Amino acid sequence: QKDQKEHQIQEYLDELAFLAETAGAITVKRFYQKLPHPDSRTFVGKGKLQQIAEYIQGKDIDLLIFDDELNGSQISNIEKEVKIKVIDRSDLILDIFARRAKTAQAKAQVELAQYQYILPRLRGMWKHLERLGGGIGTRGPGETEIETDRRIVRDKISLLRNRLKEIDKQAFTQRKDRGEFIRVSLVGYTNVGKSTLMNLLSKSEVLAENKLFATLDTTTRKIVYENTPFLLSDTVGFIRKLPHHLVESFKSTLDEVREADILLHIVDISHPNYEDQIGVVNKTLQELDAFEKPILTIFNKMDLYEKNTFDEWLEADTKKEIIKDLEERWQHATGGNAIFVSALERTNLEMLRMRILDKVRELYRIRYPYKT
Ligand code: GDP
Repeated sequence: QKDQKEHQIQEYLDELAFLAETAGAITVKRFYQKLPHPDSRTFVGKGKLQQIAEYIQGKDIDLLIFDDELNGSQISNIEKEVKIKVIDRSDLILDIFARRAKTAQAKAQVELAQYQYILPRLRGMWKHLERLGGGIGTRGPGETEIETDRRIVRDKISLLRNRLKEIDKQAFTQRKDRGEFIRVSLVGYTNVGKSTLMNLLSKSEVLAENKLFATLDTTTRKIVYENTPFLLSDTVGFIRKLPHHLVESFKSTLDEVREADILLHIVDISHPNYEDQIGVVNKTLQELDAFEKPILTIFNKMDLYEKNTFDEWLEADTKKEIIKDLEERWQHATGGNAIFVSALERTNLEMLRMRILDKVRELYRIRYPYKT
């Protein structure tokens, strides 16, 4: 039990490190602490914070990242102690999204989320500026200054909301113009291989990178398998503890998922926390009212799974047995809607195409019974 907990914490920190790398940082050290409640002033306890500060002192380190959301005064209290910049997981995710946003919609969505994130933290940030200014004669802002700032931020937020509403309207019309095609959406935790599979299924070139959130904007492609056309779109990757505001501002990107007819849920079976990730995706789908749609679960990266799971000396029969058990388990859990592939080694892709085609045809038959 204890080991498992420990393991989980390490996995979470691995993910945070991976996020940090995606944002261009190199991580040098990890700390964690088990507390019944986070400290209201500094999140971690006093001793732990001192330990962190001592570690940082004299080293070439410029950023401290927390895996949980901090409030404005916690950030400023911690910064006072460690004397370097402090951000939290939400901040980091927002930063990554901001770097990757390309379309006007994605940019506005990220900006909206950023303003919503800073609004409740304005007071803490002012305190912070006051301290940086330091010295005699510098005076912190009065309530009026904080109020003015709040008003500016609020105005920005409503401006962005309006802009997004406009973009939404256009997007809705565009989606309607796509006509009567069956729509298939790829969903999944980030970095599971959505873009790679999108490329393989549609033979297009969508950026695939070993980074989190390589896909921010949805891409939609028309595909024809054996004379049956349908639309395939790639969506933003889901992740645990996605900042609340980000989920809200990405609602319209997620409309793609909400309006899809069929979902392909991609899972990275080689990831130690893959079951957790399935849970995060399912929960998000429930929040989007999309969980009742037909879902085909695609267990990807089977090549890596085999590499990580099997020692060389293990007999081929035993390996087969283990994989068979795994497949049976998930076929059972998904009501027979599971398929095991490797996008990298192109294993089972033809079968995957046929499974998708079956589902698409079935829906066309239900929807347009007189046409065929
Ligand atoms: P996305 O974030 O879900 O769109 O994931 P990507 O398609 O960008 O893939 C993330 C990383 O996983 C990339 O480095 C891919 O090359 C790699 N990848 C994708 N599919 C496989 C696979 O079947 N096996 C292995 N070993 N790696 C894969």
